[in-house]
Amino acid sequence: MQYSEIMIRYGELSTKGKNRMCFINQLKRNIKHVLAAYPDVRVAAARDRGHIYLNGSDYIPVAQSLKNIFGIQAFSPVYKVDKSLEAIIQAVQEVMLSIYRKGITFKITAKRSDHHFELDSRELNQVLGSAVFDVLPDIKAQMKNPDINLKVEIREEAAYLSYENIKGAGGLPVGTAGTGMLMLSGGIDSPVAGYLALKRGVNIEAVHFASPPYTSPGALKKAQDLTRKLTKFGGNIQFIEVPFTEIQEEIKEKAPEAYLMTLTRRFMMRITDRIRKERSGLVIINGESLGQVASQTLESMQAINAVTTTPVIRPVVTMDKLEIIDIAEKIDTFNISIQPFEDCCTIFAPDRPKTNPKIKNAEQYEDRLDVEGLVERAVAGIMITEITPEAETDEVDELLEDLL
Ligand code: ATP
Ligand code: MG
Repeated sequence: MQYSEIMIRYGELSTKGKNRMCFINQLKRNIKHVLAAYPDVRVAAARDRGHIYLNGSDYIPVAQSLKNIFGIQAFSPVYKVDKSLEAIIQAVQEVMLSIYRKGITFKITAKRSDHHFELDSRELNQVLGSAVFDVLPDIKAQMKNPDINLKVEIREEAAYLSYENIKGAGGLPVGTAGTGMLMLSGGIDSPVAGYLALKRGVNIEAVHFASPPYTSPGALKKAQDLTRKLTKFGGNIQFIEVPFTEIQEEIKEKAPEAYLMTLTRRFMMRITDRIRKERSGLVIINGESLGQVASQTLESMQAINAVTTTPVIRPVVTMDKLEIIDIAEKIDTFNISIQPFEDCCTIFAPDRPKTNPKIKNAEQYEDRLDVEGLVERAVAGIMITEITPEAETDEVDELLEDLL
């Protein structure tokens, strides 16, 4: 038997009152976008549940893609069966035979939405239960926490069978919270921060500071590859490359070594905020983690944050490095992040950056620079590319096979 559809249970969005239909429609758009590769698949999203009609498409890859879509709490593959008692009995037996293992327990949970159907739900439970015993005399019935709970629903147009409940990604549909600018380096933390922001419905754009020739094309590609990994969770991402060489050289030349880091970060923050404003973003997201390095003490955060009143979200701020790495591995960014390319900050980083910088001092040193001009030139020089999801690995494999 082949699955005919996948039933989707929404997550937290069910509690969103009036906005609920907005959330559901955004989720529907996101699902359609991810499943665009399957032209036969149809997506419907009602108030209480969503349905993905497979129309003959393969269940497994569709289910794999669904697991990455935020806003889905859980989903169940469903068999559609003719609405005759005979057909339902046969289907129930077939399903149970296919999943039977020695010692498992089961129950049937029938529900009759179509009240004209010949049996009511209690009778259905009995008839279908004994049909299972007919083909599997050793199986045990159990009402509380059975291994298999086979749900049978009699609707107007057909009967539906399902027994699996697969955990979804949770979170909120990407796009429902508005847009945020993710400050994306090539490190481990910022991609994880981006993933966590996507999880709460933020549509992200990646802002990356590059200082050629001090930073290599490899470092830039690394940041783009990391961005590409994130597209799996929210679709295409705008990648914004900011030319940062002039600013870093200026700071290096005119400010004391101990404040290089603080001033560099303050410029990054200003520029990101300027880009945010131009592109109607609402927040800035970064990968700062408290105490991890000198620039991430509370004093540092305060000195850096002082250049803007825009909210800065730091999803990994209270996580330990190992906790961040766990997520990085799960979202498959870790192996890219550890590639040895220099970030623009490492290159100009002093041996002993100040861990307790003062805002007043930072401002004084900035008086030596043409802050506004530097920011304006950097913003005028940004390059925007749209990053799209990677090709399916099987496709690449097939291409390789064709070539050999
Ligand atoms: P990450 O692993 O994300 O690089 P990190 O532990 O190396 O973080 P820092 O290098 O101090 O920490 O960077 C702190 C945050 O500043 C980063 O998480 C990122 O959000 C931002 N940032 C640093 N360098 C860049 C860059 N070249 N472009 C954009 N954002 C950057
Ligand atoms: Mg870094």
